[in-house]
Amino acid sequence: MFSAKQRLQMIEKMGKTTYDVLVIGGGITGCGIALDATTRGMKTALVEMQDFAAGTSSRSTKLVHGGLRYLKHFEVKMVAEVGKERAIVYENGPHVTTPEWMLLPIHRGGTFGRWSTSIGLWVYDHLARVKKEERRTMLSADETLQKEPLIKRDGLLGGGYYVEYRTDDARLTIEVVKKAVECGAHAVNYVQAESFLYDENGFVKGVTCREQITGRTFTIYAKKIVNAAGPWVDILREKDGSNVGKKLRLTKGVHIVIDQAHFPLKQAVYFDTPDGRMVFAIPREGKTYVGTTDTFYDSDRAHPKMTSDDRDYLLRAIHYMFPSVHVTEQHIESSWAGLRPLIYEEGKDPSEISRKDEIWQSPSGLITIAGGKLTGYRKMAETVVDLIAKQLGGAYPPCQTKHLPISGGDVGGASQWYTFMSEKIAEGTAYGLTEQQAKRLVQRYGTNVDHLFALARTYDRNQTSLPIDWYVMCLYALEYEMTLTPLDFFIRRTGALFFDIHSVQQLKEDVVTFMQSYFHWTEEERNKYEQQVNVALHDAVIPCDEA
Ligand SMILES: Cc1cc2nc3c(=O)[nH]c(=O)nc-3n(C[C@H](O)[C@H](O)[C@H](O)COP(=O)(O)OP(=O)(O)OC[C@H]3O[C@@H](n4cnc5c(N)ncnc54)[C@H](O)[C@@H]3O)c2cc1C
Repeated sequence: MFSAKQRLQMIEKMGKTTYDVLVIGGGITGCGIALDATTRGMKTALVEMQDFAAGTSSRSTKLVHGGLRYLKHFEVKMVAEVGKERAIVYENGPHVTTPEWMLLPIHRGGTFGRWSTSIGLWVYDHLARVKKEERRTMLSADETLQKEPLIKRDGLLGGGYYVEYRTDDARLTIEVVKKAVECGAHAVNYVQAESFLYDENGFVKGVTCREQITGRTFTIYAKKIVNAAGPWVDILREKDGSNVGKKLRLTKGVHIVIDQAHFPLKQAVYFDTPDGRMVFAIPREGKTYVGTTDTFYDSDRAHPKMTSDDRDYLLRAIHYMFPSVHVTEQHIESSWAGLRPLIYEEGKDPSEISRKDEIWQSPSGLITIAGGKLTGYRKMAETVVDLIAKQLGGAYPPCQTKHLPISGGDVGGASQWYTFMSEKIAEGTAYGLTEQQAKRLVQRYGTNVDHLFALARTYDRNQTSLPIDWYVMCLYALEYEMTLTPLDFFIRRTGALFFDIHSVQQLKEDVVTFMQSYFHWTEEERNKYEQQVNVALHDAVIPCDEA
């Protein structure tokens, strides 16, 4: 029931059902809430006005992490809670979460000294209850350089070495919403909540929605409505007449991607910048990505972009910490920009504002959640759904998601992941895939790879110009992941626009042709979608103020 072709049927059903819970927003926060609510037996719906994860949840640093730097601001409770969640997110989705040892170089005069790093990481490990084998070690200057020879030698005192987790934020979000749908939730993308409906006592009882492709409007009724609209939450609070008190302040964060041929980083590094902030450099899929910036933002929420200042800031940060790396703007292959929906705190700089989540309930009963981290999504969902359960008054069980694998994650526990992977890679080669192709599919789709292997049987090179791995990924995205446009596929289903931009350039026409015949698009529709890909390819490289 999560195929692009069944989407209109799903919308039809939504208009005829009264739900216990309607969630507005298909980022990680909204999808997490939908999963929690539906697994407690609540009749649940979710609407997303763009594609799932098209807001902040595909634009993060892509780490499941406790936020070490927040210890500097003594946000101990948040670090403890989010830190503990890392292991749970990994356990429930080992295909979208990978342990990543992080190196924190210590330089004379830097943010952290040797002792403060050692103590800070020790506290971090203990707050997050990190397993023994993953606890931090402190390195000498020589050991630090052995881990990453590109690091600045001048003033190097040593390093801290500790574990975080790497993820694909958009795929994590999509696996969560797929699981919610598998458990009974109704969820659709490209449906915008436009206005609220109230009963005679002024309590919110429904939402008028607009389907974004046909423009048709319809109504969804629900006993409880949750505003999980990320950077847009205040717009919905405004519509509810409840945008008073604490408000959002958006800050923009940019990442750039450089090929390993030009920035051959072998080890993830969390390092100081000349202005005293900290930035990540992370190797991934033959690339190195670096970010993030942190600047206040008041412009178009749906299309934040890199400016030349953002680009130059990150290049300066690279030159500062990796002096032998002579990259320039010409080496930037791709970039993305995301908006942090933070709760405004007067007089604070962007990097000082807390990342803590906040829940409000308006006089109409509308529940709003904002702030927080990708990493803490499950806990945030638990808090919101506990509140809903209390207010609905039914005999709902407590949160069910702590030991619930997300879609593709049911390999019998994260400890089984590597065995599962090697068995499945071997199996994949029997379907005409190379070992490399099979590995990529298993890593990306986890246990759902069986569906992709089944689709590989239908591959006929006379029928499509796509290579077999792209053919199965594209068909799977259409049939099982409610993909409506080529950009949904290239950004949120595969991450290719960020980490494999050459394949996007090479295959964009083939993918558009494939989707045109799947959806029976007119030439005009085809041109529109192709143009969207071209614009995204351009924006990924050229700063918006130089376009
Ligand atoms: C640069 C950057 C780096 C980050 N790095 C990390 C990290 O490494 N690890 C981490 O844990 N966290 C990180 N975060 C934080 C994390 O990404 C966010 O906390 C999280 O993605 C927010 O998710 P969300 O669902 O609340 O918002 P979003 O993902 O923005 O989702 C909200 C959704 O609501 C939809 N919507 C809005 N209005 C409507 C409407 N009227 N009708 C229907 N739908 C609507 C939007 O289209 C959007 O998709 C980072 C954030 C940024 C900006």
